Amino acid sequence: MDNKPALFIKISSHSDRNILEAGKGLYDGIFLDASFSGLSDNTLGILKKKFIIEPKSYIFALDTKYVEDSTTGYPKESLFNMSKIYGSPISNLFNHRPINCQDFRNPNSISGLTRNVLEFQRVKLSRQELLFDDDYYDKYRDGPDEKLEKKLLFCLIPPYFFPNNHNNGIQGLNLQFVDLAMKEKKDDEKVFAVIPLNCSFFRNGNSIEKLCDDYLSIDPDGFFLFLNQFSERNASIEILRAIISMVKLLSSSKKPIFKLFGGYFSTLLSQIGLSGFTCGLGHGESRNIFAIYKGSPPQLYYVPFLHKNFLLKEVPTILRRFSEFECRCPECRDTDGLGFYDDEIRRKRHYLLARKEEIDRLSKFGLGKAVEDMESIFAKYKNRGLGIDYLERWSRVLS
Ligand SMILES: [Zn+2]
Repeated sequence: MDNKPALFIKISSHSDRNILEAGKGLYDGIFLDASFSGLSDNTLGILKKKFIIEPKSYIFALDTKYVEDSTTGYPKESLFNMSKIYGSPISNLFNHRPINCQDFRNPNSISGLTRNVLEFQRVKLSRQELLFDDDYYDKYRDGPDEKLEKKLLFCLIPPYFFPNNHNNGIQGLNLQFVDLAMKEKKDDEKVFAVIPLNCSFFRNGNSIEKLCDDYLSIDPDGFFLFLNQFSERNASIEILRAIISMVKLLSSSKKPIFKLFGGYFSTLLSQIGLSGFTCGLGHGESRNIFAIYKGSPPQLYYVPFLHKNFLLKEVPTILRRFSEFECRCPECRDTDGLGFYDDEIRRKRHYLLARKEEIDRLSKFGLGKAVEDMESIFAKYKNRGLGIDYLERWSRVLS
């Protein structure tokens, strides 16, 4: 078996689905947000890929300002519907106050939430219409393909919340959710535990060993690392090292370990035990659950040579200065001038091809060669104003 990381792509729009349909050989699975409601047709039947539904339960423990839609000032309809499906205490408290550990004093509420969250993942795609009350969706109500969904569901994810200073005991609650989910799983289902962490965890002298031991002792079928506000390119040496330690500790169990939201550093981690990661088509290499987004996300173009996204408006200047950075993928080569970079669909196809190329290259030439390449690129371009210090940090922690 090779050690290529499995790549799960997040679908955020209908056009993403079309790109993934055309590029089926370029990725391994689909990653969906539980609140995403843009897939009312037969996506699974068309893509026939394994998929994961991220239950996003943590959102109900956030201050409402992080949950409101910036345009309406009101939480999205799909979150209200999710809160109803997840049941009490979430359904009673959503949009009144954030949920906390005290709300789970009754053990029935812990088991109830676990059951509801798992069941939602089992049926979400075949029953997409549950998220809508509108008659328009009646036409989709016939013939849900639950059998196919069951076959393609990669794993179930128990509910989880992010630990914070005001909410002591969250990690213990998260462990109980995983434990119960392991007891709730049916037939050949698999349960992967999300380990949610804020980067401050690593700075506050917490024990990575203790945390990993706690999760390993419950013995789930696999793990997802979810590092909030963690940017692979901005992270310090210390945090990168801590993440490497976690991957090594968890992979000692021989269970699969994935990283939610990753980029090239996650690809490299596959050589020391990471089984795979998720990302969007051009976005989604990191996640900040506290971000308040206004307007649409910035337009980016991935420069594979540097393993970095640049703002689209910077790209023509950069490629004119450094023609060696030009991408030779089918979307980028043979293009007349730089005009096509405005085409979002082609940029997304390019991104998918670039990710696949990185994975194949690493698998063929190994980590040593990848580190050597990063060192030589850093040495050559470090003083050219490209912001590529991360290449040096990645080389150091992986050497
Ligand atoms: Zn390209």
